[in-house]
Amino acid sequence: MTTEQKIQQLREELREHNHNYYVLDNATISDYEFDIKLKELEKLEEENPQFFDANSPTQRVGGGITKNFETVTHKNRMYSLDNSYSKEDLLDWEKRIQKILGTEDIEYTCELKYDGASINLTFEKGEFVKAVTRGDGFQGDNVTTNIRTIKSIPLKPKGDFVSDFEMRGEIILPLDGFNKMNEERLAKGEEAYRNPRNTASGSLKLQDSAEVAKRPLDCLLYQVVTDERKYKTHFESLENARKVGFKVPKTIALAKSIDEVFEFVNHWDEKRHDLPYETDGVVIKVNNLQQQEELGYTAKAPRWAIAYKFKAEQVSTVLNEITYQVGRTGAVTPVANLEPVELAGTIVKRASLHNADQIEKLDIRINDTVFVEKGGEIIPKIIKVDLSKRPEDSEPTKYATNCPECDTELIRTEGDAKHYCPNEFGCAPQITGRIQHYISRKAMDIDGLGGETVDLLRKEGLIQNYADLYDLKVEQVIPLERMAEKSAQNMVDGIEKSKEIPFEKVLFALGIRFVGETVAKKLAKHFKSIDNLMAADFETLVAVDEIGDRIAQSIIDFSNDLGNIQLIDRLKAYGVQLEVSAESLENQTDKLQGKVFVVSGVFHQMSRNELKKAIEDNGGKVSSSISKKTTYIVAGDNMGPSKLTKAENLGIPIISEQDFIDMID
Ligand code: AMP
Ligand code: ZN
Repeated sequence: MTTEQKIQQLREELREHNHNYYVLDNATISDYEFDIKLKELEKLEEENPQFFDANSPTQRVGGGITKNFETVTHKNRMYSLDNSYSKEDLLDWEKRIQKILGTEDIEYTCELKYDGASINLTFEKGEFVKAVTRGDGFQGDNVTTNIRTIKSIPLKPKGDFVSDFEMRGEIILPLDGFNKMNEERLAKGEEAYRNPRNTASGSLKLQDSAEVAKRPLDCLLYQVVTDERKYKTHFESLENARKVGFKVPKTIALAKSIDEVFEFVNHWDEKRHDLPYETDGVVIKVNNLQQQEELGYTAKAPRWAIAYKFKAEQVSTVLNEITYQVGRTGAVTPVANLEPVELAGTIVKRASLHNADQIEKLDIRINDTVFVEKGGEIIPKIIKVDLSKRPEDSEPTKYATNCPECDTELIRTEGDAKHYCPNEFGCAPQITGRIQHYISRKAMDIDGLGGETVDLLRKEGLIQNYADLYDLKVEQVIPLERMAEKSAQNMVDGIEKSKEIPFEKVLFALGIRFVGETVAKKLAKHFKSIDNLMAADFETLVAVDEIGDRIAQSIIDFSNDLGNIQLIDRLKAYGVQLEVSAESLENQTDKLQGKVFVVSGVFHQMSRNELKKAIEDNGGKVSSSISKKTTYIVAGDNMGPSKLTKAENLGIPIISEQDFIDMID
């Protein structure tokens, strides 16, 4: 036997063992023997690097590091699934597809909906080449190096199958493995992972693939995508995928009618807790591939498939207390503090109650037994009160009348669901929250200062508002807990640097209610300075494009407040940008007022983004698609042919980059 043959033979053997162990759950040799053979192969490969193969069993222990995961466009889009929650929903779906197909004779495949992270595995000439996450469905992250370490995925499927294909599946952490990981973490004094799904999906993005290799990840496959028309049905393609080594769960079943689908659903709704992994529903797919093709896709999901979601898990527990949280704007949110209880793998202690109406609607009272449910959201919901368990002396909940933080009487304006604490300048969470908003990334983007430090600085009496930040001295900050000289200096430097932040961001940073990022941009562009804005009356404000009554009133309230006027004066004195800078004004004109541009192709004198900015700076609008409203198309090299035809059909003038520059000069 030549060395090459020996290497091939060992690889073949080890693959077989991997398959037996990880897919069939039926080991045929001991771990020890496996290791001996693996070592032997490693040695041979090392001595004969000309026979290197990325898909060799030796490559599955990991070691490769990925610093940045490359973005990859999917060859075939990865769609979502439409959801159904009842038998009626399923019957409606059946009717819809029967109508499109013009037949009542439809067979289905039923599968469990595996709860993990979706993955797309590409195989070429029968060999694994890459693995990409679903991402937004069009593009995902290349996680090939990490996926290679998951040993239940065959890198070279063996036997008769299609040769160029994508295998779609779900990366999961089986419950056993997940619990073991947590035991080890707790033993090391680390915090336990919250749930298997997030841990599985987080594992895919670890930089060190050796770390991924240690995690007991698994991959359950549910779809073969290929242009080769080898199989007539979905079920047949999955059965064959299983034969060549993929882990296609044995739970999949054929259903000859929707009644048989119901049987499958009922069976697993009850038995799902016995499974070694988590599932939150069933996926039903039209079995015939020809029919699948006829049905096609909506904008977000295949018409030939539907997910049936099991009812969310509920538990009951006791409500110990209702507390109230005050946000940056003074809005108050009631929070239910519950007797800790386990729900869908996590311990629940708190649930949001939203507002006073919600409390009244539920008629929820202290010491009540309540049902808590976990939907897709992170914060669980209280569904209802178990009245049979209500204590006899129970009293209706009285909503807080005063702020839990500053004791000011709460107010609630007509039509507003929330209560507010009006003590804007004296209520701790509002003060801290406003400053935290001011320094945040999308606002003043102050480096070297974090949310917790803001709270600390406030507690120490060093800051009461965002203007106070500019008075901070390094010597004042150093004595604070956990503050080294270097970080104190960084913080002061970061604050100093924020004086360069352009007006539109400053306006957003001020935290005027209802003035978000986009509104701030609009206002900055229109009024050009804080003085103009604060002097504007209601009519002037609502006359601005997209500024409504609510925003206008909020700006007026802000501008009439003496405290705010003083704050703005101080910011001005420190040199914060409270008007549009001369430079950007210089480039701004009304030359393109009322004109709508579509930009297409590659440009030479300026980048696409510079071009778009130039359009907006001169009062024009940029639109992404050509319509009757388009005034000009600015065309660079390689303008898309479909855009060209459309422009010609609508008779819209196409101008060059130079034409455009002449237009604004
Ligand atoms: P959703 O994210 O709710 O739109 O559901 C679509 C996702 O369900 C897919 O991206 C898959 O990751 C996942 N999924 C789990 N099990 C299956 C299955 N048997 N068939 C299809 N998709 C599945
Ligand atoms: Zn308060």
